[in-house]
Amino acid sequence: MLVNTTDGERRELLSEWLEEQGVAARPAALARAREVREALRELLVANNERRPGPPAATELLEHAAEKSRLTVRFHLRAELAPLADGVDGALGRVLAAALGAMWDGSWSRLKACRNCHWAFYDESRNRSAAWCSMQLCGNRLKTRAYRRRKQLA
Ligand SMILES: [Zn+2]
Repeated sequence: MLVNTTDGERRELLSEWLEEQGVAARPAALARAREVREALRELLVANNERRPGPPAATELLEHAAEKSRLTVRFHLRAELAPLADGVDGALGRVLAAALGAMWDGSWSRLKACRNCHWAFYDESRNRSAAWCSMQLCGNRLKTRAYRRRKQLA
């Protein structure tokens, strides 16, 4: 998944991701992929907070969709496919997948963790998950809040 090619700290797998898409990981391609990745992450953070994505992020994604020249392809069922190749095409395929998730209703379950911003799929029945993992992030935050309360009391 494009969004999880970094953990915001040490891990950076954007070059590998581009090469998997058949795109040479040149500086310009890396920069384009990075800005689309972070705009998507902002939308997933917004999903977590049940608010619309910030306009700067949605405008960036709309521009990326334009550059990829998404068009309709009729296979067994209609789908969106980019006419552009290279990094624009690779990013267009990601945006087409995001649109597919919006259409099938699974998009609102795709969230970025409230703590570490890692993307995850919320499988909870009431769509209330806020953390990538209760063990890793949920408990850490709860412990911190508990300590803070104890210090205040
Ligand atoms: Zn997390």
